[in-house]
Amino acid sequence: MTDCLFCAIGSGAIPAAIVAETDRVAVFRDVNPQAPVHLLAIPKAHFGSVAELAAVAPDLVSDLITEGSAAAVAEGATNGYRIVFNTGHDGGQSVGHVHTHVLGGRQLTWPPG
Ligand code: AMP
Repeated sequence: MTDCLFCAIGSGAIPAAIVAETDRVAVFRDVNPQAPVHLLAIPKAHFGSVAELAAVAPDLVSDLITEGSAAAVAEGATNGYRIVFNTGHDGGQSVGHVHTHVLGGRQLTWPPG
C-alpha cells in the first residue's frame, strides 16, 4: 500500500532496527520504547488490523506471535513479556498496518491505561 509506514519498513524502503525477519514477517524495535524490550512484529503485506489478518491469513497471526516471542526472549525478556494488538481508535492504534507490540524486560502493570 502506498504511503504506509510499516509497508515501507517491511520492504526495506525505510530503515528500522530489525531484529528478526522471514520472507513474510519483520520484527523491529519500537522507535519510542515503553519498556526495556519493546518490539513490533508486522506482516510485510498490508493488512489494516488483526481482525482482518485473522480472517484472511490466520497463519500470519501465528507467525507474528511466534517470531515476536522468539525475538523478545532473544532481546532479553527472559522473565516474560506481553503481546498486544492495539486495534482501532479506542484500542490506541495509530498506525493502520497491523502490528503486535511485544513488551518486556520489566514488571508490566495491569490494567493498561
Ligand atoms: P500503535 O499506536 O499501537 O499503532 O503503535 C504504533 C507504534 O509504532 C508506536 O509505538 C510507535 O512508537 C511506533 N513507531 C512509529 N514509527 C516508527 C518507526 N519508524 N520505527 C519504529 N517504530 C515506530
